[in-house]
Amino acid sequence: MNKLLKNVLILCCLSFAINSSIAQSSNATYIKAGKLFDSEKGKILTDYIIKIENNRITEVGKKVVVPENAKIIDLSAYTVLPGLIDGHTHLMTLDNLNDDTPMADKLLFEGDALRVLRGSKRAKSWLENGFTTVRDLGDSGAFLDVALKRAINEGTVVGPRMFVSGPIIISEGGQVPGLVKSYREVISDEYTIVRSVDDAINAVRVHVNYGADIIKICANNSPNNTSLTIDEMKAIVKMAHRYDKKVTAHATNDLAVWEAVTAGVDGIEHGYQISDSTLTLMANKGVVLVPTDLSRPLFHKLYDIIDFKWNREKQMQRAKDRYQDRLQRAIKAGVTIVTGSDNYLDLEMPQGEAAKNILVAYHEEGMKPLQILSSSTHLSAKFMNKENELGIIKEGAFADIIAVKGDIENDFSNTMFNIVFVMKNGEIYVEE
Ligand SMILES: [Zn+2]
Repeated sequence: MNKLLKNVLILCCLSFAINSSIAQSSNATYIKAGKLFDSEKGKILTDYIIKIENNRITEVGKKVVVPENAKIIDLSAYTVLPGLIDGHTHLMTLDNLNDDTPMADKLLFEGDALRVLRGSKRAKSWLENGFTTVRDLGDSGAFLDVALKRAINEGTVVGPRMFVSGPIIISEGGQVPGLVKSYREVISDEYTIVRSVDDAINAVRVHVNYGADIIKICANNSPNNTSLTIDEMKAIVKMAHRYDKKVTAHATNDLAVWEAVTAGVDGIEHGYQISDSTLTLMANKGVVLVPTDLSRPLFHKLYDIIDFKWNREKQMQRAKDRYQDRLQRAIKAGVTIVTGSDNYLDLEMPQGEAAKNILVAYHEEGMKPLQILSSSTHLSAKFMNKENELGIIKEGAFADIIAVKGDIENDFSNTMFNIVFVMKNGEIYVEE
């Protein structure tokens, strides 16, 4: 027999044997959902059943047939949601608020091994708080995010699904102002520094090669005072899109946002100051906004830690008013809001719990609970072109499912902290 034909026959037999063994051992789990959040339509459904086989959802409906002796998870007293997505994390960073030089400590004293071990503990706290997916956007050393993602995917450590950027692509100096000349090289351990259009093009190739899922740039380098040029950003966007990667830009002021959007980025992170005309441009080009705002409880915690007493309420109110004004103008302009905590400060609580406060912040700023949940699930998945697999409970999606106890529409903040169930990829991590 022809050798090639023989190999094909062996493969066929093998795959038949594997398929029939899967069919025989099909071990479905059924979740009874008292309330179910439809993230696509942004509404609550009642009394649904979700069928899960291996790591996927295979059926969702009111009339799903549950065989006798089937494994049933009864969440009929709770609200069941797709696993949440935190669109802006830095799992490999935790800055002490009373440390004047946290970046120097990270770069000079922590080292890769300790840094990624600490990151793995933080990753777990996100999962335990209901975030089954995160987009980790730099501040993670030289591709330590890729390493952590691999460790999670192979089951070595427990954490959420990670979509990672690798180092932030940035102009001279990174986000570390005032470093003396002999130590400037240290910055390139943390960032990918770009000094020309050619550098920009190659940076994207290097990142794609190392396994980045998304490209993160700094349109302006706040707190540093330099920025990428529009031509450098255009080159990055063109190259990233060629490899089917989205580009998202740290941009804090209106000029930085306008330049990044003009260069063609897909997302804007922070955007604390954006004019109405720039918001209209974002809406027209389908650029999403990831507002990384602080909640009132986190403001208080932060002020306590740094022992800040002077005019505390007034200072906080001023910041909250600015956040709210920009968020509401963005929604009014038709810009898609995607949830992102940007939590990298040590607020003396598990980091995933601090990150959850982003939902509270949006609620304080006038977004409705179901609107916030759509931004934290379906809209975030859509930004990653994963809307059929993540952030949604429907046939074919990954079995990333959580449940909360309480009244989601009338007691949103408390309910979202009352996590009673977390499943990722068909495996249960929290069950109360
Ligand atoms: Zn950030």
